[in-house]
Amino acid sequence: MKRILITGGAGFIGSHLCERLLKEGHEVICLDNYFTGSKSTIIHLLDNPYFELVRHDVTEPYYAEVDEIYNLACPASPVHYQYNPIKTMKTSVMGAINMLGLAKRVKAKILQASTSEVYGDPIVHPQPESYWGNVNPIGPRSCYDEGKRCAETLFVDYHRQNHVAIKIARIFNTYGPHMHPQDGRVVSNFIVQALKGEDITIFGDGTQTRSFQYVGDLIEGLTRLMNTGSAVSGPVNLGNAQEFTMLELAETILSLTGSASQIRFMPLPQDDPKQRQPDVSLAFSQLEGWKAQTDLKTGLSKTIRYFETLL
Ligand code: NAD
Ligand code: UDP
Ligand code: UDP
Repeated sequence: MKRILITGGAGFIGSHLCERLLKEGHEVICLDNYFTGSKSTIIHLLDNPYFELVRHDVTEPYYAEVDEIYNLACPASPVHYQYNPIKTMKTSVMGAINMLGLAKRVKAKILQASTSEVYGDPIVHPQPESYWGNVNPIGPRSCYDEGKRCAETLFVDYHRQNHVAIKIARIFNTYGPHMHPQDGRVVSNFIVQALKGEDITIFGDGTQTRSFQYVGDLIEGLTRLMNTGSAVSGPVNLGNAQEFTMLELAETILSLTGSASQIRFMPLPQDDPKQRQPDVSLAFSQLEGWKAQTDLKTGLSKTIRYFETLL
């Protein structure tokens, strides 16, 4: 049994990770400031004596004795990370420094939830880990993209300079139950709109692409990555290689929900990446044949069922 700290544990991905690690028999400390997360995602875990919930902001130092740290704290939806961009950058950078300082002190292994956004609006397609990306340093998405890039730099430097055992997961667009209905990302927006009979809001002409990964596949990848040995310390893409346009996503959700919602085209936000698809060959070779297993329709059906219970 290990004692594991999950920052951002009350968020969408964090709550699934808390569940999974408790199920494996570990002790879990879930740390969150509830900016985008909520107690409702983990309320069912509160009577587990091996689960501890801590209200804390990762920009402040935190002291505990732990074996492993999953650093997930950071708003992930453009609407929320752009609400207070300076705070977003502080969360990524100061949060990384504090959690790396903690990992260094207690000799814990630490995993960073990085993102496909480090590739920006990619010119290389699909994106391998060796691609350095195409990121605007001064645009509306920069607080998130550059914050995550800086966090990766800090992770690698703590590894080289202080021998901290690090793992970096570059997570591609992930969806599933426990997403907040007002999260603002495309999958939850489209499902909520379809279920309420509201217009489906497509930004731009809907030809931009994303590759959507079901949360269960991601959690399997994250835990496998944490369990790798010291040979694995560079970034690893975790995503589903199936790529879809936003128009295809909207049509699939309309057909799965049987909704009569209409499609409404809205302006494309500045710096919105045109395409995104992971090269997952490194994950396959380093994580014992890991591969996203859940196809879009199966994952969306489970997510739709979750939102039906909420609305
Ligand atoms: P989320 O917004 O649901 O979860 C983020 C959690 O972090 C929330 O519970 C929030 O309250 C907490 N948080 C934010 N700032 C904090 C701070 N200063 N101190 C403590 N807690 C703080 O988002 P998510 O989708 O679950 O994302 C989790 C992590 O995975 C994030 O780091 C995100 O960047 C990364 N990621 C997610 C995706 C995705 O598609 N979901 C893709 C790439 C990377
Ligand atoms: N830190 C923390 N918890 C710990 C140890 C360190 O939050 O258990 C913070 C500490 O406050 C510092 C940061 O992590 O700001 C980086 O720590 P490190 O030891 O690398 O740097 P230093 O303290 O020398 O600046
Ligand atoms: N998007 C959309 N309608 C929405 C929300 C998002 O068409 O209601 C588009 C957005 O412009 C982007 C894609 O869907 O091209 C994915 O957006 P999301 O915010 O989910 O993730 P990210 O852009 O960070 O990959």
